[in-house]
Amino acid sequence: MQHLDPEVLSLFALDEPVDAGSISHLRSCPECAAEYAALRRAVNAVRTTPDASSLESPGPNVWEGIHRKLGLSDAVASDPLGPANAEPAEPQPATGSNNVSWLRWPVTWLAAAAAAVVITTGVVVAVNQTVAPVPLASARLEPLEQFSATGSATVTEAGDGTRTIEVQLDKTEARGYQEVWLIAPDLSRLVSLGIMNSSSGRFDVPAGLDLSGYPIVDISDEPLDGNPAHSSVSIVRGTLSS
Ligand SMILES: [Zn+2]
Repeated sequence: MQHLDPEVLSLFALDEPVDAGSISHLRSCPECAAEYAALRRAVNAVRTTPDASSLESPGPNVWEGIHRKLGLSDAVASDPLGPANAEPAEPQPATGSNNVSWLRWPVTWLAAAAAAVVITTGVVVAVNQTVAPVPLASARLEPLEQFSATGSATVTEAGDGTRTIEVQLDKTEARGYQEVWLIAPDLSRLVSLGIMNSSSGRFDVPAGLDLSGYPIVDISDEPLDGNPAHSSVSIVRGTLSS
């Protein structure tokens, strides 16, 4: 049987949403349930002062499972709460001896469980901060005159506000080299975004450039003549719309 990933177990323990398949596995698998229970206690121990009245001693399989899943060294392989590590008999309170044992959680045990919680929390935070770029506008690129290439251009905006245009053509047809431009509707103003040596490329959109003033995406065929102006030979062109 495929047991639950330690990260999924940690998500459970942190009350994070998990998929239905993992939930049903947890309900039907005693081993994963035991690991979940242990992690849950670790979360409670880290978050709050433990309520001794609700704590129980774990079975030997709990530490074994945690040890294996966390890939801990052999030096801490034996159950810290097991017979081999039991302290010499000493007077115990008449009631609640099991509860008391939890309050003597060895540092390694708690640290390992807490580390799993911390690592998983870091993963969750990292995932949440990786926000996918939002598409702002796109254009179909159609060939001009003697050319036959077609393609697309898509502008996306990242979480920090930077905009990128991704250009894709089905082939390269330049006799010189391809240059990517944003052009005003009346063709009176234009901004060069850069050189594209293959059939696709990604280009930064200048910060502050109002795309509605430069909605035309144009890819030109530029001769190697040292003249930085548009050659007036366009291979494909399209207008951005959102
Ligand atoms: Zn399982």
